[in-house]
Amino acid sequence: MERKGILIVVSGYSGVGKGTLMKALTARYDTYALSISATTREPREGEQDGREYFFRTKDEFEELIAKDRLIEYASYCGNYYGTPKDYVEEQLKQGRDVILEIEQQGALKVKAKMPDVLMLFVMPPDAETLVQRLRGRETESEDVIRERLTQAVEESKYVDRYDYMIVNEDLDRAVEELHHLIESQHNRISRNLDFAKQIQQELMDLT
Ligand code: 5GP
Repeated sequence: MERKGILIVVSGYSGVGKGTLMKALTARYDTYALSISATTREPREGEQDGREYFFRTKDEFEELIAKDRLIEYASYCGNYYGTPKDYVEEQLKQGRDVILEIEQQGALKVKAKMPDVLMLFVMPPDAETLVQRLRGRETESEDVIRERLTQAVEESKYVDRYDYMIVNEDLDRAVEELHHLIESQHNRISRNLDFAKQIQQELMDLT
């Protein structure tokens, strides 16, 4: 039976640990392809072009938009972020599950374009933990932290557009929950109609 790749969107408030969660998931399971976004934001210490992001100038990013090279893009806290199209399409064709770790405006655009996307939202165990994690990161100024918290309030209004949440309290557990949620999607009848029809035909042939 041919296994088709699933497109998965993972969103969550800034500082909730999405990046760490994605790294742990892809380290444990090799069935996932993690899309690398393009952005106009400055690299943080330790980030590398082509690994965390493709870091681009505003002009370069606008050229990607003009040439229709992005599945979606959004402006977040004053910077552009977008998902390059080619990689995602190629990986899905090869049957891999492709993860887009993107914010909510872009996530809703993907959902509108591709309705069978699996929409996941990572939650902190409580708001205080989120603030502590954002401050603990020490890569952002207090102004940026405040901007990201304001953005989090905005994003919280749209969580009902997502299918499932994962509470990131214990990393190991969150990785397993995420993996099982995705695995269960492969067994949805709506994703296996050809197989179901084949069995039906075989049954009819036997009667
Ligand atoms: P950060 O600057 O912390 O790396 O990312 C800021 C936000 O942008 C996060 O919520 C992240 O998920 C989101 N993001 C990263 N890449 C993309 C993308 O390609 N498209 C959209 N819409 N959001 C993205």
